[in-house]
Amino acid sequence: MSSRERILIVEDEQHLADGLRFNLEAEGYQVHTVETGEAALDLLTPSPQALPAFDVVILDVMLPAKDGFTVVSELRQAGQFIPTLLLTARGRPEDVLEGFAAGADDYLPKPFELSILIARIRGLLRRKQWLHSKAAPKPEPRESFVFGDKSVHFDLLELRAGGKTYPLTLMEASILRYLIEHEGKATSRKAMLEEVWGLRQDTDTRAIDNFIVRLRRYLEDDPANPRHLVTVRGIGYRFVAVPKDR
Ligand code: CA
Repeated sequence: MSSRERILIVEDEQHLADGLRFNLEAEGYQVHTVETGEAALDLLTPSPQALPAFDVVILDVMLPAKDGFTVVSELRQAGQFIPTLLLTARGRPEDVLEGFAAGADDYLPKPFELSILIARIRGLLRRKQWLHSKAAPKPEPRESFVFGDKSVHFDLLELRAGGKTYPLTLMEASILRYLIEHEGKATSRKAMLEEVWGLRQDTDTRAIDNFIVRLRRYLEDDPANPRHLVTVRGIGYRFVAVPKDR
């Protein structure tokens, strides 16, 4: 890891952008600010071969032209899966779910405490490292996991199923990795929120369900009748690598 992690802030309110830059630089981060989603897209999607210039994006939802939801969605469509935290105006569940559906990795409702933002940034950086870690503390390091005719490639952030390749966001890959590491066991939404996202309170556990719906679309032959990502009533979910009656 580089000594100074690089953060891109996309925020049109100059005083907020300046304040964030000042405080994050004081924390030792390298910070660049832009005022529009278009400028962020120019910086983050220069060409598929270009090295990523940033480690984390802090993206305001309320921007003058393209809003934050659109920007993160276009980043993902362009194959750019940089960890992205959305700053939402309110913590409304529908805003949160729209952000996650667009491909955001985390969110923070405005106004927020600086210490909370820094904790979330650290969380995104840690998850990025954990995801790529060769020495995971859990059962065994699995950069790829193959089940039947399907496979997940954590190093590439890809899921291959039914002859198709689906790019995963960092958060999708992290949740899937957590479920795979607990293969065959019921895993609670709360455990996923705490251990995968580092969220301990004030979080709607239904946010997890939205991720499961998306993951099922990728890896289930019939998403309405899931066999790999099985609902465990009253608890959460269980990952089953090889369904029994096959
Ligand atoms: Ca704004």
